[in-house]
Amino acid sequence: MKIGVLAVQGAFIEHEKMLQKLGADTVELRQKGDLNNLDGLILPGGESTVQSLLLDKLEMKQLLKGLIEDGLPTLATCAGLILLAKNIDNAPKSHLATLPVSVKRNAFGRQLSSFVTKQNVGCVSDYPEVFIRAPYISSTEDGVETLCVHEDKIVGVKYKHQIGLAFHPELTEDTRIHQKFLELIAA
Ligand code: GLN
Repeated sequence: MKIGVLAVQGAFIEHEKMLQKLGADTVELRQKGDLNNLDGLILPGGESTVQSLLLDKLEMKQLLKGLIEDGLPTLATCAGLILLAKNIDNAPKSHLATLPVSVKRNAFGRQLSSFVTKQNVGCVSDYPEVFIRAPYISSTEDGVETLCVHEDKIVGVKYKHQIGLAFHPELTEDTRIHQKFLELIAA
């Protein structure tokens, strides 16, 4: 199983280590030629505006969008979720726009810009969630399943083959979310 990890900016190495621990092959996606024969895609955290600019410059954005729309299983975390969202409340435009949700960037306020909390994520119980200048999901369209909520705000969703999380599962020792993602691909 070959999982592409977008590696233009942000916390991609941590995702790779996690997937390798679980026995998956990973490939760093740095140019359009890297986008072939993928079984899954990870969009990591980082800075969504920078990632989006780089995707345009590297001519990767439309290709990635097409792959996701054609059904490539995708796990997006934090900035990755912002890239996927169809609408961003506090930004002038969306980026890949394949996930029918609205998000708000940097939405938990300055003082709470980073925090860790433990809760259930879908069927994964007591998962340690690491939030870093995280967005939340302000609204969802039909067909989007809510996986988890923090203080009344949606912070994890699943829509068909796309999973979007406001937090960073790659920054924990807990491999269960990546494991679930690999199971989704295998199914
Ligand atoms: N605040 C970042 C953004 O808007 C996301 C932060 C993160 O990925 N940890 O893109």
